[in-house]
Amino acid sequence: MHKKQLSKHYQDFREALLDWFRRYQRDLPWRRTDDPYCVWVSEVMLQQTQVKKVVDYYEKFIDRFPSVTDLAVAPLQDVLKVWEGLGYYARARNLHKAAQIIVNELNGEIPTDYTTFRKLPGVGDYSAAAVQSIAFNAPYATVDGNIKRVLARLFLMEAPINDAKSAKLFQQKADALLDANEPGIFNQAVMELGAVICRPQSPACLVCPVNAFCEAFDATRQAEFPKRRETKPTPEHHLTVGVIYNEAGEVLLTQRQLDGLLGGLWEFPNGEIAEGETAENACVRNIAEVVNLSVTNVRYLTRVRHAYTHFKIVVDVFQCDYASGEVVLNGPRDAKWVTVAALPDYPLPRATHKFLNEL
Ligand code: SF4
Repeated sequence: MHKKQLSKHYQDFREALLDWFRRYQRDLPWRRTDDPYCVWVSEVMLQQTQVKKVVDYYEKFIDRFPSVTDLAVAPLQDVLKVWEGLGYYARARNLHKAAQIIVNELNGEIPTDYTTFRKLPGVGDYSAAAVQSIAFNAPYATVDGNIKRVLARLFLMEAPINDAKSAKLFQQKADALLDANEPGIFNQAVMELGAVICRPQSPACLVCPVNAFCEAFDATRQAEFPKRRETKPTPEHHLTVGVIYNEAGEVLLTQRQLDGLLGGLWEFPNGEIAEGETAENACVRNIAEVVNLSVTNVRYLTRVRHAYTHFKIVVDVFQCDYASGEVVLNGPRDAKWVTVAALPDYPLPRATHKFLNEL
């Protein structure tokens, strides 16, 4: 296609997509506001999480922290508590840290330029482009896994969507396609198309507003795209969790370090089961290693499973009684004896919630 024809082709594509989006977009709470803070919170939550789940969390979060200043002055524990269950807790910690930088160093104003905003903790290319385009109408194209899928089908792009080396190719295509006059609405329209029409399985091509522009549809090759690089099977780890009761009937909670997986969340002392070790022995050893306590009367409670992005865990949960020793931490950043009734006040991992009712 000649340059002129291509430009007309892209323009027709944009009009068809935007027309459809204006008529049929879902009514989502963050689409009812142009407050950059709200747009930012929603975009952070939407990364790696489904819209349906985000809606409740978003409303709860904005209700509790209505402005960037409210978020900046809140204790991290409160932020993690509201985020509890949404996963990827680094997002909450970074959002909190970024809010503090905005309030302390940037006069409480969310940066309106891409470069300054991109430097804030937790802000990557995707969220910078999303917030800058949606809140400030700046011409940056968003690219995430869903958008790559749509692009791969529209243009029969062979590059694997899960290969970091293809990122540049997809970004270039998205940049070329972007509607520079309405970049925020356009980005949302492509995301919406990926979410409700050009779904991962069985795309609804017959009702797709841009099927006339889609090379995969034209060639009946939708099922072949996007391409993926083969990945290794997800590893599974077998862990024990020990719920230790003291004489007052309280249980010992430990807090994870702030950085890393589930950073800042509270949990029961835990650790892996070594090869050839029984789960019960591993539980007693893990407790001794992590909090330096000896326990007695160890009894099996239940088994739970949980899947993270890159691995799965199988957890054998035991209850036991404190026997001797002083708490000395080897790994956690803090520990507290708390009543079972107070456990819901702490931000806890999803895997812990899976057996909380049984205590
Ligand atoms: Fe996706 Fe089908 Fe639309 Fe192409 S026609 S963009 S494959 S839904």
